[in-house]
Amino acid sequence: MGNKREKSAKAFKKAQKVIPGGVNSPARAFSAVKMDPIFIEKGDGAYLYDIDGNKYLDCVNSWGPMILGYNPPQVINKLKKQLKNGTSFGAPTEIETEIAELIVDFYPAVDKVRMVNSGTEATMSAIRLARSYTGRDKIIKLEGCYHGHGDSLLVDAGSGVATLGIKGSPGVTKNTAEETIVVPYNDQEAVEKVFAKYASEIAGLILEPVTGNMGVIAPEAGYLEFLRKITRKNGALLIFDEVMTGFRLARGGAQEIYGIEPDLSTFGKIIGGGMPVGAYAGKEEIMNYIAPAGPVYQAGTLSGNPMAMQAGLATLKELKNKKIYSQLESKAEKLEKGFKRNIEKLDFPAYFNRVGSMFTLFFTEQKVKNYQDVKKCDQQLFAAYFKEMIEAGIYLPPSQFEANFISLALSDKDLDKTIEANYQVLKKLKVE
Ligand code: PMP
Repeated sequence: MGNKREKSAKAFKKAQKVIPGGVNSPARAFSAVKMDPIFIEKGDGAYLYDIDGNKYLDCVNSWGPMILGYNPPQVINKLKKQLKNGTSFGAPTEIETEIAELIVDFYPAVDKVRMVNSGTEATMSAIRLARSYTGRDKIIKLEGCYHGHGDSLLVDAGSGVATLGIKGSPGVTKNTAEETIVVPYNDQEAVEKVFAKYASEIAGLILEPVTGNMGVIAPEAGYLEFLRKITRKNGALLIFDEVMTGFRLARGGAQEIYGIEPDLSTFGKIIGGGMPVGAYAGKEEIMNYIAPAGPVYQAGTLSGNPMAMQAGLATLKELKNKKIYSQLESKAEKLEKGFKRNIEKLDFPAYFNRVGSMFTLFFTEQKVKNYQDVKKCDQQLFAAYFKEMIEAGIYLPPSQFEANFISLALSDKDLDKTIEANYQVLKKLKVE
């Protein structure tokens, strides 16, 4: 068999000459699975096509945004219409109010929304706001959670930081890193200890309420309630980073399914419908600290960009239909049952975690409830699994420290194909 991905290999070599590591975001480089990345030509429905003409069923969906699948006509039509009117004005448009109204409608904890261009900007700005609102400096962050690459949050982070096995990043000053206190996820005692020591210095606690960036882990019963109580008691803000989970686990995100109202929420991914968008949001009293309503400066030439707003609004309008979430749930449930059946049949050392349409297959037999548990997974086995799944035509996130995402475009046949590929690959790995 010739190289099925010859053009991708060439494209990667060429890219490496002019782009650091050949990619514009580290997770795309396939470092952990020791493969050349696959260069994409197009997406269509549930499928990706690479520049060599190979077709893959996609469980990444651009790391979450493509919940409707690729090129949904409702979104594409709006983008085409906007193209004719102009792609950026740097002046307000009515559509920005319309999308903010929709977010406010779906999230009871939100009165006001500020649009930015990425999840990183959203969390970075939310932290600045929390510090200014409370007049305090320290932030609590949970180990293995990833909130983008803002300096304060690039400490013991998940996603690409975990994949590369680094603790933080050079270039973040010691003083900045020291203001971020890291505790394990799902560990109430650790949070209690931090508040006992630093109570009056903590501006806020930020977390992924359901994690995706160390793989999918759900909060244990009572954990989010505990965080809500202890932050409120100590005058610190509770910040839910719903960049991944917002509009994905439910229309109202993780805060809807667990019934918790955070003080601030951050969004991204789905709210841009595949265009570059982020947002931070919360109660009026806090959000009015943002300029020009208040003193906290935050701005953006392309913030609220009309193309991005059109794609986001068209996507969120589709998600108004609550049936979509039960459809996603039944697809994800079918996949879960299939994968678990395979694991059991083959007596394979693997652990499957799922919340809504996000899931991770962990290569360990132990229950996974925090970052330390994920670190114990067999990374080599994961890499072998990833390669074989690619050969079987299934495109997965190329690291154990990531979530898989299901789109609405997946048909029953697609799900059967994924379950069968999972079975065949696990069977092959079991023998080797
Ligand atoms: N927060 C979370 C929970 C994320 O998953 C991500 C990105 N995967 C970010 C923040 C950063 O978003 P962006 O990559 O758009 O900067």
